[in-house]
Amino acid sequence: MYDLLIKGGRVIDPAQNIDDKRDVAISGDKIAAVAKNIPSLESQQIVDASGKIVTPGLIDLHCHVYDGGTKEGVEPDAAGVRQGVTTVVDAGSAGEAIFGGLPKYVIPAARTTVFCFLHLSSQGLTVMPELRDRAEIDLEATADTIEANLDIIKGVKLRLVGNVVASAGVEVVKMAKQTARKFGLPIMVHIGDFYEQISPTLTREFLPLMEAGDILSHVYTAKPGSVLRPDDTIMPELREAMERGVILDVANGRRNFSSEVARKGMAQDIFPTTLSTDVVLPSITGPVYGLTVTMSRFLALGLDMKQLVETTTINPARALRIENSKGSLKPGMDADVSILELLSGTWELVDAEQQVTEADTLIAPGMTVKSGQLIPAKPVAQPKPVD
Ligand SMILES: [Zn+2]
Repeated sequence: MYDLLIKGGRVIDPAQNIDDKRDVAISGDKIAAVAKNIPSLESQQIVDASGKIVTPGLIDLHCHVYDGGTKEGVEPDAAGVRQGVTTVVDAGSAGEAIFGGLPKYVIPAARTTVFCFLHLSSQGLTVMPELRDRAEIDLEATADTIEANLDIIKGVKLRLVGNVVASAGVEVVKMAKQTARKFGLPIMVHIGDFYEQISPTLTREFLPLMEAGDILSHVYTAKPGSVLRPDDTIMPELREAMERGVILDVANGRRNFSSEVARKGMAQDIFPTTLSTDVVLPSITGPVYGLTVTMSRFLALGLDMKQLVETTTINPARALRIENSKGSLKPGMDADVSILELLSGTWELVDAEQQVTEADTLIAPGMTVKSGQLIPAKPVAQPKPVD
């Protein structure tokens, strides 16, 4: 007898190469079976998913969920299970000096699984731009914090902004990388300098330091540091990084996503490895909203459903090295499932450059299954269709 049966949905699970009408059976907190026509009598509880999309639990590789610890942090469940996302990654809200509140207060209060990238700057994003002074970096304390929290911390975050990066450039990236590599972890590096302090050539200079598994955040930024050159071609250092296995992450956000750069990038075969939101408190009510809205943007920009699910399930799971338990609906995996709806209409999705992408389909969260438990979607806000 199964505990929960999700019946009749279109199951999209790129890791198993499935895109077909299937039933998903759950026992306890694990996936038990994915098959055609599993009898309803074999389960305690049934969810009718006909007409809906059923995917592995979505993973948001970049958001800010240090609720109460930083001014802009959202509750993990607001970025997570309340909008169809079962795992979120806090991308450097905290550095070593302020990290403690995440495992002590924030993570235990959430139903959503939370992982973190630890900021190289000790005070994290409590001061922006960070790294105003070299004294904000304490490599020993950073390493100690990682070592004590290896179950939660998945890498080291660095934003290429602020005085220290403006003066020391790639040396700061090397510090982040050396610290992360002590533990075999990747770095996550933000490009796009809204503050216009750093040299625009820094992106070309540091990309050769990035290796397979390292994450480039804001791949489609139009701000200084962009990978798009003035003649609209993509810098060769980015293509080489992609070919080495560097993860190209969207990190939608308010300042560092341009739909025009995305279009021009994808036209030159620079596709995102992962879609993520970079959602914060001021943007969860728009224009960012959450991961299904970022997926909707990329549907409008030309990705297909398989690509949208791949970039929000198995690809971020691999980036976090959790692909043995999350990112697919293989039997034995964690029972994290997203049930999504496709709504028809017209939506005008605004990017950081105030450009509008018109979408005729909105991917909307319906139900979330987290560790086998059913949670109805209740997003803080969703884009409104235009008449
Ligand atoms: Zn961010």
